[in-house]
Amino acid sequence: MTPPRPLIAGNWKMHGLAAALEEARALAGLLKAQPAAARVALCPPATLIDQMAWALKGSDIAIGGQDCRAEASGAFTGDVSAEMLKDAGAALVILGHSERRAGHGESDADVAAKVVGALRAGLEPIVCVGESLAERRAGHAIDVVQGQVRGALPADLAGRTFAVAYEPVWAIGSGLTPRLADIEAMHAAIRADLIEAFGPTGAATPILYGGSVKPANAREILAVADVNGALVGGASLKATDFIEIIRAI
Ligand code: PEP
Repeated sequence: MTPPRPLIAGNWKMHGLAAALEEARALAGLLKAQPAAARVALCPPATLIDQMAWALKGSDIAIGGQDCRAEASGAFTGDVSAEMLKDAGAALVILGHSERRAGHGESDADVAAKVVGALRAGLEPIVCVGESLAERRAGHAIDVVQGQVRGALPADLAGRTFAVAYEPVWAIGSGLTPRLADIEAMHAAIRADLIEAFGPTGAATPILYGGSVKPANAREILAVADVNGALVGGASLKATDFIEIIRAI
């Protein structure tokens, strides 16, 4: 079985005004000079998707949203649909990020509905899962994450292109990372669930690690079995940092 093609995706979160497009252009320049082994994506705030799509036209960098509403359109003030992200130039969308689960009360069922919306619009979902520090300390990390995988990944994903991002909540933005053996055990558990639920699609789905990935630790994390890329927050904001992570695989 051919291993999944790695994906390195940058999550800019709520960072970036138009001037930040210079970083995206710089990254495109670095990748043009030396193409990457991995697929590369940038997920800027929704306000920058259209401008970034223009700025990166002809480059190998795909653009992603950071969330979407499940419905295609309607009376949902302030929300953005998958169709709108696609129309603006996105090809992917991050769903179920822990900051959305915690700050907006998103459940696994909400995330699953958004995944269906993303697929309907032709976007590739990157579905985030991850345990809290209390759950890890209590020895429940794998059970919690497997529950999220089962609850947030609808059957509609069979035969479709998507990614799962394992992001321990306590590792995001903290500078802390799990032990490599814990990352390996978690990715193996997710892989087993993906294969059980989706067969060959599950074997071919990239499982990304996310949480304080930096140039200094990217190589050892990306070498762990069944780690098929990374979802990178803070270190994706600067092209010179992000390119080092991209080149670490
Ligand atoms: C993230 O927000 O998905 C993330 C992994 O952030 P950071 O790399 O900053 O920990």
